Amino acid sequence: MIPVAFDYTAPSSVADAVSALGSDSEEIKVLAGGQSLIPVLRLRLAAPTLLVDIGRIPELRGITDEGDALVIGAMTTHAEVADSDLVKEHAGVLAKATEAVADPQVRHRGTLGGSLVHADPAGDLPAPILALDAELVIAGADGERTVPAANFFHDMFATAVGDREILTKVRIPKHTGWGAHYEKFTRVAQQWSIVAVAATVKVDGGSISAAKVALTNMGATPIRATGVEQALLGRAAAGDTVKQAASSAAEGTNPPTDTNGDASYRRHLANVLTGRAVLAAAAN
Ligand SMILES: Cc1cc2nc3c(=O)[nH]c(=O)nc-3n(C[C@H](O)[C@H](O)[C@H](O)COP(=O)(O)OP(=O)(O)OC[C@H]3O[C@@H](n4cnc5c(N)ncnc54)[C@H](O)[C@@H]3O)c2cc1C
Repeated sequence: MIPVAFDYTAPSSVADAVSALGSDSEEIKVLAGGQSLIPVLRLRLAAPTLLVDIGRIPELRGITDEGDALVIGAMTTHAEVADSDLVKEHAGVLAKATEAVADPQVRHRGTLGGSLVHADPAGDLPAPILALDAELVIAGADGERTVPAANFFHDMFATAVGDREILTKVRIPKHTGWGAHYEKFTRVAQQWSIVAVAATVKVDGGSISAAKVALTNMGATPIRATGVEQALLGRAAAGDTVKQAASSAAEGTNPPTDTNGDASYRRHLANVLTGRAVLAAAAN
């Protein structure tokens, strides 16, 4: 289907983008990589009167080392994040989850910021961002504000970013030396996650001294498996011990039932995949 007609603007700075978002056009949408928005427009699930294309704003792109944190511009593509040596070294679980997004074509166009604001419960990037205790920087008419990942995802397809705001960058505290793994369960290759687990752990002398675990598609928003994180502390980074700690991963979750599986199947998957993710993270 052809989208409903809309006006289009492509500002070259965040200030100009915010100003375009403040215009009196009835319904405005931000266009990033277009990998989720364009299908939505073609299906006429949204009919904006104005598209603000943020793809020509240099300050929204790139990955920088700011000492104790990495800062990733919202328009940085999945391919750039997955290939980045900085991300691999300091935020390994994000690199691994990003490698698992879709196919090379989508990863070439889709952006980190677009995935986070789109907030699909089955999207692969909210969980690692939550696990890494990232902070998200949002620009709007009232200036800039920073929101911790724990407060960013409000509901299915709903985040802290308002209609007339832009996510500009993501600040990720460095997790240098932490093992990392993203365990994604799909029925066929290059599918959205049925369930997935982002795990990053620190291992000292064979024991887990710190663990961060978050679940994809086990509720409307990504969920931190805090019970598992606590149960892992001080435990040997080995088979049965980790599996036992992981067996409570699904507690407190509210997974969907759909054609890929019902809620109880997903709870079983979450427990099994968490064990696998933590063991793989501890081994690298
Ligand atoms: C065939 C296919 C398979 C896919 N498979 C997967 C998968 O397996 N895993 C996965 O995680 N994703 C998958 N995706 C989605 C992909 O990761 C998209 O790139 C992502 O969901 C959206 O990023 P985008 O840059 O394309 O954003 P857009 O499509 O341009 O925008 C998405 C939404 O976010 C808003 N938005 C975007 N950027 C900003 C910003 N900086 N500030 C404010 N609002 C903003 C837009 O207004 C829109 O509402 C798939 C997509 C396709 C087409």
